[in-house]
Amino acid sequence: YAAKQAGDTARRWSPALDERAGEHTRLGGEIRLALDHGQFRVVYQPIVELPSGRVAAVEALVRWEHPQRGLVSPVDFVPVAERNGLIVELGEWILRTACHQMATWRRELGEQAPDRISVNVSARQLARHGFAATVAAVIAEAGLPAPCLAVEVTETAVFEGGQAVVTLNELRDLGVRIALDDFGTGHSSLNLLQTVPVDILKVDKSFVDTITEAGRHAVIAEALIQVSHGLGLAAVAEGVETAAQAEALHRLGYRLLQGYYFGRPVADPNFALSTAVATQDHMRALRP
Ligand code: C2E
Ligand code: MG
Ligand code: MG
Ligand code: MG
Repeated sequence: YAAKQAGDTARRWSPALDERAGEHTRLGGEIRLALDHGQFRVVYQPIVELPSGRVAAVEALVRWEHPQRGLVSPVDFVPVAERNGLIVELGEWILRTACHQMATWRRELGEQAPDRISVNVSARQLARHGFAATVAAVIAEAGLPAPCLAVEVTETAVFEGGQAVVTLNELRDLGVRIALDDFGTGHSSLNLLQTVPVDILKVDKSFVDTITEAGRHAVIAEALIQVSHGLGLAAVAEGVETAAQAEALHRLGYRLLQGYYFGRPVADPNFALSTAVATQDHMRALRP
């Protein structure tokens, strides 16, 4: 796995730096420059289907190759870009890059291409009138069928209702899939499933971390797969790092898994898909 790990060395910088007065303002200005100088990259992480081991979907994740700081994690700059509004421009660039990549896979791989690409969308993007129109324009430009795109939104981004939920309904009308990200860590998880159009539940890594121990998280993970199936939603387990976790999730009925065990996010789009081949043996071990 060494080669795979080398592709995802984004790290957090020190909390001291984070908290220093003015740091966010400075970073905000640097994001503007970084957009102009093409310092952002999109990396791709496979979402694997059990028991086949096929890469059913891919999540696009943004990276910042900062000339001085090195690879900066989105955890550090996405919130800053949200606050100064640059997430709108950055987000549109990420969306366009990811949709064009997905269209390329479809052209080059045909039936072997993943079913969809998943793109993270922030609260600020969802709150804009016209976001759905932007998405419609981007997928049209890429020549991508709408169901081949999923937008990942957090519970927090849609909790307050308003324009965010209007936008999600517009996206749903286009045929774009909606994934609730980090599910179970936000405000009012289950109620949201009635008020927001959702196709995919992404069960948060925190439930996966302790899945192999008999405890609350395992019980919740089991309940969530039942809720998903009962409501006709797809469920993706996030942050699967070990074979034991994959086996436990498979036993509970999870069919879509994402995590370092299957593949790290990587810049090379074809390498992101080739991990499926590497995991065939893992998949065989999961078969009954
Ligand atoms: P997320 O959308 O929940 O993405 C999953 C995060 O978990 C990614 O971190 C991914 O690299 C990491 N991950 C995947 N598998 C494993 C695993 O097995 N173990 C561990 N420890 N981590 C795993 P990343 O790329 O650093 O992104 C962090 C968060 O930043 C994302 O969480 C998302 O909320 C946000 N983000 C990333 N890219 C974008 C983007 O393009 N737009 C927006 N708005 N937000 C983004
Ligand atoms: Mg996500
Ligand atoms: Mg997530
Ligand atoms: Mg998460």
